[in-house]
Amino acid sequence: MAKDLEIVSVSPEYTKETAAALGVLLQAGDYLCLHGDLGAGKTTFVQGLADGLGVEDEYITSPSFALVNQYAGRLTLYHIDLYRLRGPDDMDAIGFAEYPGRGVAAVEWPERAGDWLPAERLDIFIEYDGENGRKIVFRASGDRYEALLEGLCNNCRR
Ligand code: ADP
Ligand code: MG
Repeated sequence: MAKDLEIVSVSPEYTKETAAALGVLLQAGDYLCLHGDLGAGKTTFVQGLADGLGVEDEYITSPSFALVNQYAGRLTLYHIDLYRLRGPDDMDAIGFAEYPGRGVAAVEWPERAGDWLPAERLDIFIEYDGENGRKIVFRASGDRYEALLEGLCNNCRR
């Protein structure tokens, strides 16, 4: 199994830049799960992903009531937030199993999806590290995501 990639972000901008670098590398069908407490920076990360995917929409917020927001870019970005999920009926209602289709999916509160999550995916864990600091850990499950992380590492400033 590939080693986790760990970085320390020092600002929201840094988190967005890192996410944008990942967004540039995404391919159709990619599945990203974003873990972390409220205010950790999951949505901030998705804003950077959107930048990297060439999404022109400036206003990306958590789709708390709709559960899913969709943005057009180089690939369609499906931003899914399960924070307000009430149960399996909601999963059916949003057609959770259909994502990412030919786009890419970024899921906040993925643990609420339980067994619905695909086994192969990129997990991203964001933890507080002071007011503007965040530890971001990337964990790849499956060959595609190991290659994706490798690509991201090659772009890392070290
Ligand atoms: P979540 O979606 O995880 O609830 P948000 O992305 O909505 O979190 O909010 C994160 C908040 O933390 C934003 O106000 C953001 O400006 C702030 N923040 C401070 N430092 C960072 C950082 N290094 N990375 C991401 N967000 C940060
Ligand atoms: Mg959020």
